[in-house]
Amino acid sequence: MKKFFTIILATILFDNAYTQTNTSENIIVITMDGFRWQELFGGADSVLCFDTTAEYSYKYVQKQFWAPTAVERRKKLMPFFWSQIASKGMLLGNRQYGNFVNNANPYWFSYPGYNEIFTGYPDKGVNSNDKIPNPNENVFEYLNKMPEFKNKTVVFGSWDVYSSIFNEARSGLLVNDGFRDLGGKLTERQQLFNRLQHEMPDLFHGGERLDLATFNIAFEYMKVNKPKLMYIGLGDTDEWAHAGRYDYYLDAIQKSDAWIRQIWEYIQSTKEYANKTTLIITTDHGRGSADSSNWKHHGEKIYNASEIWIAAIGPSVPPSGENKTSAHYQQGQIAATIAEWLGKSFKPKHTPLPALSIGKK
Ligand SMILES: [Zn+2]
Repeated sequence: MKKFFTIILATILFDNAYTQTNTSENIIVITMDGFRWQELFGGADSVLCFDTTAEYSYKYVQKQFWAPTAVERRKKLMPFFWSQIASKGMLLGNRQYGNFVNNANPYWFSYPGYNEIFTGYPDKGVNSNDKIPNPNENVFEYLNKMPEFKNKTVVFGSWDVYSSIFNEARSGLLVNDGFRDLGGKLTERQQLFNRLQHEMPDLFHGGERLDLATFNIAFEYMKVNKPKLMYIGLGDTDEWAHAGRYDYYLDAIQKSDAWIRQIWEYIQSTKEYANKTTLIITTDHGRGSADSSNWKHHGEKIYNASEIWIAAIGPSVPPSGENKTSAHYQQGQIAATIAEWLGKSFKPKHTPLPALSIGKK
């Protein structure tokens, strides 16, 4: 209960600091699977950059990502986040300032995390990564029933479990995940991207394609079809961290930052999206700390793995930059926030966590 009041108080304090923001007409959500807040706010980790016993190329990590201060390192790693989002959007979750974002679910792995983001409900019954159709209604599914979003709501992801997480059969959303080809009438470029995903190396040996494929298939769909609600689930970060490849993990972060920049620049230069589209970027779970091998891992046995972050930019977002005030947010608040930023409220059968209500008077 005490925690509840802390959230309310933090929300009130936060509200007073910013003026009214605008309702968005479109929302794009992007996740970077298992990407730690430590690198988002601190850049390449100083322990992992100098680990001469590492199984990854620490020399490459130093050459590409090292700089003497955390502020320089994070700019090097994520130039779009630390120029555009830091000046025009908001970044929540820098724990060094007591600004906390956590999973509310107790599991700290992917399916429970994505369920929490999109249904707003940290459901204890959602406790495996198996392809079980999600019993909980998600906010995209809810909004897709409204005329303005009908058939303009789409899901793209590298991992082939998204069709279960979004319960494709029940929700009727277009879901393109794993190595599935995009269907329907396709442009030449779309046909090319369908083909290339099968010609790229299957590095993760399973149902997960490289983000290079997911990003291009999703971005081309955005240009051709102009969806109003779109999700892009990226996964390379988690795969490379599990593999102990800190070099590739950092590469994946930097590439994701560049893809997000491309999407943001496209939004700003396209009449269907400009000045009426908000971008939300977050993660499904955190990972352990760097002074052990725990940075590779996550799950309920890894102490720090519920520590996450949320970033956003667009007309509904207060330009508060890196938040340095004491506050505590939960992942499950994102679902109601998506609806609220569209001027709607999310009322599924279950009770979702409340919206962040940041920037709203
Ligand atoms: Zn994982």
